[in-house]
Amino acid sequence: LALAYETGRIKPTEELRDIVYKCTVCGNCAVACKYMNTLEPLEIIMKLREKLVNTGCGPMPQQQVYIEAVKKVNNPYNEPYEKRMDWIPDDIILNPDAKVLYFVGCTSSYRRKEMAIAAARILNAAGVSFNILQNDEFCCGSPILRIGDTTTFEEILNKNLDIIESKGVETVVFSCAGCYDTFKVDYPLSRKYEFKVKHTVELFDELIESGQLKLTNNVPITVTYHDPCHLGRNAERYEDWDGDVVQLLPLVSINVPPKPKRTG
Ligand code: SF4
Ligand code: SF4
Repeated sequence: LALAYETGRIKPTEELRDIVYKCTVCGNCAVACKYMNTLEPLEIIMKLREKLVNTGCGPMPQQQVYIEAVKKVNNPYNEPYEKRMDWIPDDIILNPDAKVLYFVGCTSSYRRKEMAIAAARILNAAGVSFNILQNDEFCCGSPILRIGDTTTFEEILNKNLDIIESKGVETVVFSCAGCYDTFKVDYPLSRKYEFKVKHTVELFDELIESGQLKLTNNVPITVTYHDPCHLGRNAERYEDWDGDVVQLLPLVSINVPPKPKRTG
């Protein structure tokens, strides 16, 4: 399809757009194709989306709504920007001079506040001195990039990197798999940065290993771990990590579904 489009044999039509935007960007084909050869089907799909956006054929009309929301209120949910900090409870301790920054993200700030609260409380419990960007935090740009609006994405990543670099932090921590993937994999393709990026599962793993985070309470439940596609596959962490944090919890019985390796 991409080749036919590139060589002018098919035109940017609604039918083509509907096909190209059916992909969820899960990355499975990119892994599977590496088993046989070095094809990058996901990169081809992303490039095709970018071209459709540039011709005015893409994205899907509903997706245009959240592009406008990010431009207007800095989040795709079209929530008031001044409510971005509403998730934070009184017991969270922040340090404005900390070298660790917790990038909360739009979903945890507005839709899954329990994720942000849990991450911040665990950081506090482990004695990790950290800060958040508060009213300087904007959407990471992931939903904008995934639908092919690379021009708006570049503006967002530059805005985020300018602010984070001005704070002089050494490590940025993410609890959202999508934000982490976007910072770790996509930002450096446009602009390099010096700070380290870590997902909370990586950081908590290190904190447990070092004894800084102590697990003392029994949790008698069985859980199935869903490894987000943005974390395990698209950010390419499968080779060196095996869901250790959950397995370390006392009495938690865990089912970890078999996962595809980088080589398929
Ligand atoms: S990334 Fe590949 S496997 Fe995943 S939905 Fe898109 S085309 Fe399908
Ligand atoms: S990271 Fe989670 S929400 Fe995002 S695409 Fe993967 S499964 Fe869906």
